[in-house]
Amino acid sequence: MSENIVEEINSILPQTQCGQCNYSGCKPYAIAITQGKADINQCPPGGEKGILKIAKLIGVDFKPLNEEYGITKPKSFAFINEEACIGCTLCISACPVDAILGATKKMHTVIEEECTGCDLCLSPCPVDCIEMLPVKADDNEIFVQNRSNLARSRYEFRLERIKRDKKEANAKRKLLSSTREKSKLINEKRKSITEALARIKKNES
Ligand code: SF4
Ligand code: SF4
Ligand code: SF4
Repeated sequence: MSENIVEEINSILPQTQCGQCNYSGCKPYAIAITQGKADINQCPPGGEKGILKIAKLIGVDFKPLNEEYGITKPKSFAFINEEACIGCTLCISACPVDAILGATKKMHTVIEEECTGCDLCLSPCPVDCIEMLPVKADDNEIFVQNRSNLARSRYEFRLERIKRDKKEANAKRKLLSSTREKSKLINEKRKSITEALARIKKNES
């Protein structure tokens, strides 16, 4: 199947980026469906509405959600009890859409509009100060679509950022190792010149 089908399936998926389907995000799951590696009923947040849409799109029979992957729950967002937060930043690393603001040893906060409700920040928190609260406008189709579009672009932006950071870190490592290599060569040259001069001096005396 083509990249277009991947994108169409991805646009049906809710972009919660929770990994409950056993893939690292909605797009990898969409790719796995097109490759026949995953079934269409593995996304609990998308629920049976989503399964029906995917089934229609790719021309297969509808099947109910496979609850081995979880159950469909009302949409929620994470809320941090800022007084209890110790600023460890573990939740920031876990968030697939960069919806948490904070810095080391500073209190953290969740931007509600950007949170997908994926729950991934809950278990890393060492002081258990994050709770999930219900999203009030859950039943509004436009609201849900806007949230999903925002989550998709933030997830893709995060992946790009991680890729860029890795590239920069590799480039820095290479530069450092070539600088070390150069200074090793210079030191070796200096050493052989000093030794040669010492030999000449010895021969002259
Ligand atoms: S919302 Fe979660 S379970 Fe559904 S496709 Fe995306 S990552 Fe997978
Ligand atoms: S803040 Fe927590 S629940 Fe919200 S998107 Fe980030 S990791 Fe998921
Ligand atoms: S994981 Fe918990 S304690 Fe650590 S920064 Fe996040 S909210 Fe605060």
